[in-house]
Amino acid sequence: DLASEELHILFFPLLAPGHMIPMVDMAKLFAARGVRATVLTTPANAAAVQSTINRADDSLRHRITVALLHFPSSAAVDCENMSCLPTQVARQNFLGCLASLRQPFDQVLGEIRPDCIVADMFYPWTLGLAKELGIPLLFFHGMSLLALSVNHSVHRPKTPLESLPDDPETVVVLGLPRRIELKRSQVPDLSKISSFLGDFFRQLGEAEMGCSGVLVNSFYELEPDFADHYKKATGRKTWPVGPVSLCNKDLDEKSSRGDTACIDSANCLSWLDGKPPSSVLYVCFGSLFQFSPAQLREMALGFEDSNTPFIWVVRNKSSEWLPEGYEERVLGGGKGMIIRGWAPQILILNHPAVGGFLTHCGWNSCLEAVTSGLPMVTWPLFGDQFFNERLIVDVLKVGIGVGTTEYVVEEEEVRVVKGDVIGWVVSRVMGGGEEAEGMRKRARELGVMATKAVELGGSSYVAMGELIKELNEAKAAREKS
Ligand code: UDP
Repeated sequence: DLASEELHILFFPLLAPGHMIPMVDMAKLFAARGVRATVLTTPANAAAVQSTINRADDSLRHRITVALLHFPSSAAVDCENMSCLPTQVARQNFLGCLASLRQPFDQVLGEIRPDCIVADMFYPWTLGLAKELGIPLLFFHGMSLLALSVNHSVHRPKTPLESLPDDPETVVVLGLPRRIELKRSQVPDLSKISSFLGDFFRQLGEAEMGCSGVLVNSFYELEPDFADHYKKATGRKTWPVGPVSLCNKDLDEKSSRGDTACIDSANCLSWLDGKPPSSVLYVCFGSLFQFSPAQLREMALGFEDSNTPFIWVVRNKSSEWLPEGYEERVLGGGKGMIIRGWAPQILILNHPAVGGFLTHCGWNSCLEAVTSGLPMVTWPLFGDQFFNERLIVDVLKVGIGVGTTEYVVEEEEVRVVKGDVIGWVVSRVMGGGEEAEGMRKRARELGVMATKAVELGGSSYVAMGELIKELNEAKAAREKS
């Protein structure tokens, strides 16, 4: 029986789009290499998972199954659809809810009996269950190798930070292969962390030490020094297998042009068809974040100021923040388009009319921009987004920041970035000068490298092949004993 011989991997993504999308894409990449994949999720997330799977072609689809996991109590239902950022209290609740999946997960595991588990880092308790079954477990953090390295440095009893002599608010993270400067406010302060979160990180740290390796959505050539450093500093096997979004190449266009579920998103592609090459700025802050009306208004003014055509994804339902006359002057005049709802981000980034991406620096978005060969305006909001900004701006030199420094989720009142600053940075990235040309050229080169990485013989392709070989050997050894 051939079917029982093929390698079977169970993928267990976190219930949030920014974690689910790349893990399901990863499952597709494994399926394309002959692996049988099961994606485990809760009923409320099954449709989203299935639609991400459906973007794959038929030959892959039959290798991927969705399996369901049920929360043991209905109190957890709030955690099922992460559609906005949880507050501190809700975060605690969220982690508690996730932990309640342990028992149901254990049961499903017994039924599915995979050869390996790929679990999101938010489920550190999966390691113990994998060990009981005697199968390997790999973690997926959804972060860049630079961010993983910074986190590894910072999550120590004595944080290795050195202030600049003339600017105590700016710190250098010590022990990294490159000089990374951050603002103090951008580095998590472990002394202020709640005991609940502290416990979670301790549990995660222990699980990471016992896991069989870490899967990373990045490619070696993008951050080679951090790839080497992370491997060496942690002693963990590290498998950069990205950019995983490339598994959807060629297929997206077909499906989304005809997608009428979001009228705006179908319209935006024909809107782009009428614009000159590389002229349009795409603006999106990921799947979770909503800005204050005051900030949205400044953004609107900034885009108008920069005289750059834009597609802007806005989560807020109301439009009261739109400056007076904006509708007629800008939106009606074809200079800008607002998408309310879910945008076909990868399709937009790959459209020839798009020339730049204003992003919150969520790692998926950064990598998708790199893959499409686009320079960025960076506007990080919290967490690893600040670290990703340093990679984009300082290391790769394919972006310019608007200058945000504080965690928006923690602060009561967040400083509003003014329209003239936004307009100025957008003009610098989208303009015709030497600086912009240099960024565009470097970004295009990175895009070519990204595609090469996942092609036959590329670094990510080879890494995935080595991992599959290891997993097959482990399976053979297990079946023998
Ligand atoms: N995304 C999308 N349409 C949207 C918003 C987001 O397709 O309107 C996708 C985007 O392409 C990326 C993911 O959702 O794959 C967002 O992940 P990211 O890490 O950038 O940010 P997060 O949402 O986790 O903050």
